[in-house]
Amino acid sequence: MMSFTELLLVALLLALVALGLSVAAGWAALVWQRGHGAALETSYQAWARHLADAAFDGLIIHQNGVILQMNNAASRMLGRRAREMMGQPVANLAPPEAVPAFRALLEAPPPEIAEFTLLRADQTQLIVQLNSQTISHEGQPATVTAIRDISQMKADQAQIARLLHYDALTDLPNRKKFTESLAAAIAVNDKDGGTTALFQIDLDQFKEMNERLGRAGGDLLLKQVADRMNALLGLEDMLARLGGDKFGLMVTSTGAPNRAVHLAGQLEAAVNQPFIVEGQLLNVSMSIGIAVYPDHATDVDGLMKAGEFALKQAGRAGGGFCHMFSHDEAASFKSGFKRDNFRPGLTDPQRLAQDLRGAIAAGEITLVYQPVFRAADLSLTGFEALARWQHKQDGMVPPGIFIPLAEQAGLIHEIGAFVLETACAEAMRHEGNLKMAVNLSPLQLRDADLPGRIKAILLRTGLPASRLELEVTEKLLIDNAPAAARSLQALRAIGVSLALDDFGTGYSSVSYLCDFPFARLKIDRRFINALGEDENAEAIISAILALAGNLRLEVTAEGVETEAQLTFLRTNAVHHVQGFLLGQPAATASVAAVSLPRGRSLPALPALVNAAG
Ligand code: C2E
Ligand code: MG
Ligand code: MG
Repeated sequence: MMSFTELLLVALLLALVALGLSVAAGWAALVWQRGHGAALETSYQAWARHLADAAFDGLIIHQNGVILQMNNAASRMLGRRAREMMGQPVANLAPPEAVPAFRALLEAPPPEIAEFTLLRADQTQLIVQLNSQTISHEGQPATVTAIRDISQMKADQAQIARLLHYDALTDLPNRKKFTESLAAAIAVNDKDGGTTALFQIDLDQFKEMNERLGRAGGDLLLKQVADRMNALLGLEDMLARLGGDKFGLMVTSTGAPNRAVHLAGQLEAAVNQPFIVEGQLLNVSMSIGIAVYPDHATDVDGLMKAGEFALKQAGRAGGGFCHMFSHDEAASFKSGFKRDNFRPGLTDPQRLAQDLRGAIAAGEITLVYQPVFRAADLSLTGFEALARWQHKQDGMVPPGIFIPLAEQAGLIHEIGAFVLETACAEAMRHEGNLKMAVNLSPLQLRDADLPGRIKAILLRTGLPASRLELEVTEKLLIDNAPAAARSLQALRAIGVSLALDDFGTGYSSVSYLCDFPFARLKIDRRFINALGEDENAEAIISAILALAGNLRLEVTAEGVETEAQLTFLRTNAVHHVQGFLLGQPAATASVAAVSLPRGRSLPALPALVNAAG
């Protein structure tokens, strides 16, 4: 039989374990064991209650559907006093329509953590994760349910998803969303034989108007132009802001070429009507380039380029013209495009894959190491190992090309093992606690023996597991999330830490983040690169930081190239920074060479904060 204090303590232990605070859980268990069996003292009961009330997660103990007790966190989250809730049906915490589902969830708790929406006393909704456990209370079964408020996290997720796909000024889809939708439309056309027209639209003389109106006025004009164009479009069409004064339009209905030309005339006529912005009368015109799938190109990249080419042709005619792409005009452009995109030696992936087979033995695969710094004081905290392939004839082949090739050719395990072994050996040359980060391919994680192999490498090289960090991308999590979670847990169990690389480029799903044992997020360099150029970038980075803070993850910003980017990141309390500004990848991870990045003396952080206002 358990006293209420003991119940609370058990509940607290569950919550601590759920939180992953295994050290704290172990400590609490020790105290519990000591007190258990002996007559519990009043001070001990008080101590246990304080402990339960200090927990971040809510704890509710209920029996036969009736609440016995809840801790401070639960009453705070739900806006309900614990005393008033005692004796009330626990199902009352759910919105009326969800009561049966909530009851079912509590009666037969699923093995994994469940998500549910509860109702606060003020009738607002609270999104929570629930973890229930059956316990014995005075000889009868009771349930302890730990609840964690994830409302803010969900809001962060929605905001990030919105910022990733929509333009903050016009609320139109952005380039990423637009090209994704274009790819989807092309895939549908492939099956149904339909056509899709792509418009590249550019406002004529926008720079002059922007100077005349000021930035705020320019923004207003862009918004009005977007609204006017949108009013002419059907549900199937998609207008997007591609950046600056550039818009993209996708017209998917059948008969696209004819309809496209007709629509271009309508858009032009609508925009030619004067605008009034901040009391000024403005005459606006735009240039339009049109390219049609499949007539002019057969993939997104080709179609976008064909549209741009047509837009340039339209622009040449002066303002207010529309131009349809033509293969004849573009003949020189197209051959140039092919040359730019494929270096001569890299055109034959089969030959390249063949060459890759012997590359490790031939010593052609090497590693370079890029330093990583703590943002606050720019002290060196470690390196990221990056693979290089020096091909006999083709010269340096970038990992963006040969890693996917290695994955397809079944060579990634061999290359991955070589990278891990070499990087760990290199890390052993460093003193102190400098970390070594190694990138892992999703395919490597499918290998059930990977943790064992890594353990053996750590033993062989003598590197403590705590100094090795493994970086994976979201692709891994999307393909098979439960299997990925198991592999990552197994790696975590050997003591290495895990980072989610290139965050923001994949699905950026927060639910993945909650369930995987990551210690770090690396914000993709695309966002860092866009700082100062795209007004969404700051908002996206801030949202990612808020989210990471919520999940207690550290954040590294990669691809830092300018002082302005560094200042923004330091001011916004990013934990670590990495990029060409601070250190290029180099053949040996030389601590001496990078411990004072480029010999600069940095202003103290408070000065930066002040400077940023
Ligand atoms: P990543 O893991 O995100 O690595 C960072 C990439 O950004 C590296 O490119 C690095 O050279 C580059 N970079 C660092 N700072 C800057 C900067 O300030 N500006 C710019 N523009 N770029 C910067 P790299 O070496 O070409 O690697 C590309 C990707 O290839 C890596 O992205 C990683 O996903 C993959 N990769 C590299 N080595 C390995 C490996 O050993 N195994 C696996 N599976 N993948 C690897
Ligand atoms: Mg990486
Ligand atoms: Mg990255």
